[in-house]
Amino acid sequence: MNFQSKLPNVGTTIFTVMSSLANEHQAINLSQGFPNFDCAPELKNLVNKYLQNGFNQYAPMAGANALLEKLAGKIEKLYGASINPKTEITITAGATQALFTAITAFIKSGDEVVLIEPAYDCYGPSIELCGGVVVPYEMKAPDFKIDWEELEKLITSKTRMLIFNTPHNPTGSILLEDDLKIIERIAEKHDLIVLSDEVYEHLIFDGEQHQSVLRFPKLFQRSLAVYSFGKTFHATGWKMGYCVAPEHLMREFRRVHQFNVFSVNSFVQQAIAAYLEDENTYLNLNSFYQEKRDFFLEKIKDSKFRPLKSSGTYFQLVDYSAISDEDEFEFAKKMTTEFGVAVIPVSAFYSKKVNQKIVRVCFAKTESLLAEAAEVFNRITLTP
Ligand code: PMP
Ligand code: GLN
Repeated sequence: MNFQSKLPNVGTTIFTVMSSLANEHQAINLSQGFPNFDCAPELKNLVNKYLQNGFNQYAPMAGANALLEKLAGKIEKLYGASINPKTEITITAGATQALFTAITAFIKSGDEVVLIEPAYDCYGPSIELCGGVVVPYEMKAPDFKIDWEELEKLITSKTRMLIFNTPHNPTGSILLEDDLKIIERIAEKHDLIVLSDEVYEHLIFDGEQHQSVLRFPKLFQRSLAVYSFGKTFHATGWKMGYCVAPEHLMREFRRVHQFNVFSVNSFVQQAIAAYLEDENTYLNLNSFYQEKRDFFLEKIKDSKFRPLKSSGTYFQLVDYSAISDEDEFEFAKKMTTEFGVAVIPVSAFYSKKVNQKIVRVCFAKTESLLAEAAEVFNRITLTP
């Protein structure tokens, strides 16, 4: 059959590639980001309860009222924003669907979208499917700082959207209040829509505060913010998330959402609404993951890997330049197949070919698995 691929340059995602390689070689899988421990039994009991009690038909298109209301309350308390649960929040099938829907709702053929690279892998293809053009701004190791003046130079009359992610996958960097103020000014000046990926809002370390677009009223008026229950409740396999946006943007978002998934599974929405009753379910996450980060860093402190600062997410970058000159993908493959620990090459998050000799490690793992993996890290002393 004759057809032209809409994504001719896209292969299988790096997460699938590395997890498959890890399984094939029975390697410890620190590549794809997911916990190797289960979600809370209380949450599973609630899911079971609502499954058994009749929540098995379509949920309302935008989401179950109980969950929308709980989220509006949580947002008000955490970020001081007054959000209308009926018109400004939509429950989605994971953050991925929220991102796809947001991009599809606003990006037309020829529109330019500024992305900050390294960038999570689903933004680019979603933009391209809409005929949009990806305009990458490159952050570089070791500190992955954004020079906003340089970034602003990439904006043209065709730029429609700016996408950013804080806390940031894969670097673990975070944006500060001043960054958000600059984004607000840039977005206003160039009349941009802002897509803010905040799936790691509750995984932020060393006493830092998450800077959500929801804290900045003027910025929020042109923003869509995206969240994932998968990260917050150790349940990545449920693919549950949500999007928050002012009514005039959410109206457009829902025009696409209703024909994309229509609504998201009903009983899990009810269960999450009930589980959110106790705010400790998400407020304790920072210290829970900070301990894991610190445990792993302590264990590899004498290895030849040099850790880069991780201020948030459940990812830690490590520089292997003291071990090898190899390309990141080759090195990640070697770690998986020859040493038995799978990691992700950071180059997979850039559109240009780069080799900064850095790989990403997921530390959402039990201490025993992290200790086992650290032993392997300590053994790797190859030279070029
Ligand atoms: N954005 C970022 C930055 C992510 O890391 C992920 C997944 N880990 C997602 C979006 C997608 O989240 P979900 O699994 O809820 O679709
Ligand atoms: N977001 C996860 C990561 O960054 C993986 C998600 C996926 O496999 N699509 O590793």
